[in-house]
Amino acid sequence: MTIKVIAFDADDTLWVNEPYFREIEIKFCQLLEDYLPQHTVAQELFKTEIDNLPLYGYGVKGFMLSMVETALRVSEKTLNVEVIEKAIHYGKELLEKPIELLEGVEEVLQALQKHYRLVVATKGDLLDQQRKLRKSGLGHYFHHIEIMSDKKEIDYEKLIKRLDIQPDEFMMIGNSLKSDVLPVLAIGGHGVHVPYHITWAHEHIDHHIEHQNFRQVKTLSEILPFVLA
Ligand SMILES: [Mg+2]
Repeated sequence: MTIKVIAFDADDTLWVNEPYFREIEIKFCQLLEDYLPQHTVAQELFKTEIDNLPLYGYGVKGFMLSMVETALRVSEKTLNVEVIEKAIHYGKELLEKPIELLEGVEEVLQALQKHYRLVVATKGDLLDQQRKLRKSGLGHYFHHIEIMSDKKEIDYEKLIKRLDIQPDEFMMIGNSLKSDVLPVLAIGGHGVHVPYHITWAHEHIDHHIEHQNFRQVKTLSEILPFVLA
């Protein structure tokens, strides 16, 4: 392998994220259960989020606006304004969550930092991701932080160009096959999938990947033997 840069996804790869969203989503659905069953509210919220992705991008602020929009639609604008107030409050709760590092993260970064340029490549709100990185205490391990509006092939191509390397010198590690692995393999890079127990429905794919530049590991630490070999 000729890897020069190893990039890490952040949410649910370096630290806990999706369970916090799920917790808020449940509270939001409970808030609207006078209008619709909770699972139907959840479906409506998901639909709103997906419709809004091209406008708002990924992250908490877009999620908050989608909660407000869903509440208005589900209640046919008959809701108590306190519901809106609560949705905003839930979003702010998300922005203030503590950072809980996933198992093995610090050891892996420590072991790799002398051998590779390490990068964070994440979607989400700029300010929120900067806050999480600062709170995580991991900032000093990274040569570069890339907060991306999306993780499509073109976004990775731009990143690789900016890093001044060839695609086959780039390895991306993350919990989403759809965002962290498939586009990177497609442009000639290396992709490592570290599954997390909860994945947002939008990131689901249902096919099996076979590719010479692809690896799947159970925990982050499992990458060490083959990247340090
Ligand atoms: Mg992730």
